[in-house]
This record gives sequence, structure tokens and C-alpha cells, in this order.
Amino acid sequence: MKKAFFITLLLLISLGCKKEIESSVKEEVSSTKKNEFAIIIHGGAGTILKKNMSDEKETEYKTKLEEAVKVGYTILKNGGTSQEAVMKTIQVMEESPLFNSGKGAVFTHDETNELDASFMDGKTLNAGAVAGVTNVKSPIELAIKVMTDSDHVMLSGKGASEFAKEKGLEIVDPSYFYTERRFKSLQRIKEKEKTALDHDDKMAVFYDSDIKNAKFGTVGCVALDKDGNISAGTSTGGMTNKRYGRIGDSPIIGSGTYANNNTCGVSSTGWGEYFIRNQVAYDISAQMEYKNSSLKEATKDVIQNKLTKLGGTGGVVALDKNGNMSFEFNTAGMYRASMDDKGELVVKIYKE
Ligand code: ASP
Repeated sequence: MKKAFFITLLLLISLGCKKEIESSVKEEVSSTKKNEFAIIIHGGAGTILKKNMSDEKETEYKTKLEEAVKVGYTILKNGGTSQEAVMKTIQVMEESPLFNSGKGAVFTHDETNELDASFMDGKTLNAGAVAGVTNVKSPIELAIKVMTDSDHVMLSGKGASEFAKEKGLEIVDPSYFYTERRFKSLQRIKEKEKTALDHDDKMAVFYDSDIKNAKFGTVGCVALDKDGNISAGTSTGGMTNKRYGRIGDSPIIGSGTYANNNTCGVSSTGWGEYFIRNQVAYDISAQMEYKNSSLKEATKDVIQNKLTKLGGTGGVVALDKNGNMSFEFNTAGMYRASMDDKGELVVKIYKE
């Protein structure tokens, strides 16, 4: 009897020690600095399949992603801020017709382009966002201006344009955002919509066509600078054929964008309504804060488990305070790239 008691006691003690050792190892792993500075970007997620992509188009995307990520990397390497790196990197993609942001944005049902963007500073937890902007060349720059030069977090429509003018940002004619490819996408979707019978069918056509043909294309960037500050930003034209002033997740802090120096920075892309309902970007940070999850565990759970269970599609790029990086998506592909402090470049489109 006595013997059994001592054996049980010994077992309990050794189990306790094992737990302690395991948790201290986890602690050590998560506090190890992987990169002094780093940058990660996306150019949208969706049904991006190799069989539907010509070699030339693939090279075009990869070249632009590389150009964009290198702009941010150079800023960080030279001691610049993550805010500047995120803005300048996103601007390269906003100016490219390849992506659904800035020039190349998708069309609304009324054949206009309505742009959304957001930015968050992980040091101060300050943030700025704009929605439904039609004539500001760089929505990400405007989102940052809202953060730095106003008392607000989110401005929309006419008011946002007025603010941009007041602050001296570049204003363009709305036709600047026109691209034939996106216009044709809209016409195709509208054509299909005509044959839809009821409201539910129409919604199915709206989302299906967009997911399968337009391949999203929102852009986003997260950067960690040499001072340990994380910034995240996202810029988009939203979803093709959107109407009634629809706003997705991209300009919503906590859904499309989030940054916190104590945890991580995140930029999302995908079917916005699901990202809003899941609070995707904040949930990743919260899992790290409250559950002590690693960046990989948190991004995986939120995208592959929670978002997928709800029926949402898309992905995130994320980077933690130690410079660990994560690409996570549940679609066939995501345009993406990253660079670490050793200058190692990753540029990918499809699932491995
Ligand atoms: N998330 C964006 C939206 O719903 C679209 C995208 O990422 O492609 O507006």
C-alpha cells in the first residue's frame, strides 16, 4: 500500500517537472529573435491555378511582388520605419494594374471603383482607415493620414476625399482606376446575374463568379523594423459587382488589418464578410496574447479551422515581434512574398 503511494507520488512529481520544462522550452522558443527586421506581403488570394496562368503572366506577378517587397526591405535595412516600409511597398502594388487595389481595382455594380484601405501602428495601437474612396490615388497613404492627422480612425466617401484634398494628397480623375480586364470581369458577372432566379441565387452568382474568375487581388503588407515596431496595412477595390455601398473587411481594424508590438501584425485577403464575422486579424493576435500560441499556431487555427468552418475563403500574411513570418490561406493560391534580415527572398503564388 505504502509502496503504491510512493510510486504514485513520484509519478506525479515527474509529470509536473515535465510540464514545467515543456512550458519553459515554449517560452524560450517564442522569445527567440528570428529576424531583427522583416517584411511580408500579399497580392490577394483565390482560385489561382497554374493551369489557368500563362508563363508570362506568372512572371509579371512575381516580378511585381519582388519589386514591391524589395522597396520595403531596403527601407527597413537602412533603418527606416515599418510605417514607411508598409506604405511604400503597398504603393508599388496600388500603382500596378495587376492587383485589385488603386489602379486595377475591381468595379462596383454601378461601374465605378470604390477603394478601401487601412493601416495600424503596433507601437501605439493607433490606426487609420478609409472606405468607398473614388478619387484618391493612394488609399493607403490616405489611411495613414487619417491616423496621423485626424482625431478619427475611419473616414468614408466624400468626406474622406475632402480630407485628402485638405491634406494635399494626390487626387486623380476616377477614370485613372479603369482597366479593361476588370471592366470585362464585371460585365461577365452581370451577364450571369441576369439568369439568376431569386435573391439567394444572385448572391451565389455574385460571390462565385468573383471568387472563381476575378481572383481577388487585394494587397497587404506587414513589416517589423529595427526598433521592434510592427506596422500592417491593406488596400483594396473590394469585390467585383459590389453594390449599396458595400464595405468589406480590408478597412476594418481587427478584420483586415491589425498590429500590436507585443504580439504580431496581420493583413488579410479574401471573402470580406467572413473576415469581418471572424475578426480574423485581431483573433490571431488575441490567440498569441491569451493562449500563448505561436504565430504559426494562431494563423493556422484562425484560417484553416475557424474561417474554413464558417465557409469563408482567403488568407493572411502575418509577422510576429520576433520576426517569424507566416503565410496562411485556404484557397488554391495567394500572391505572396517576404524578405528577412539576411535578404532571403521568397516569392510564391500557388500552394506548395
Ligand atoms: N477582402 C476584400 C473584400 O472583401 C477582397 C479581397 O481580399 O480580395 O473587400
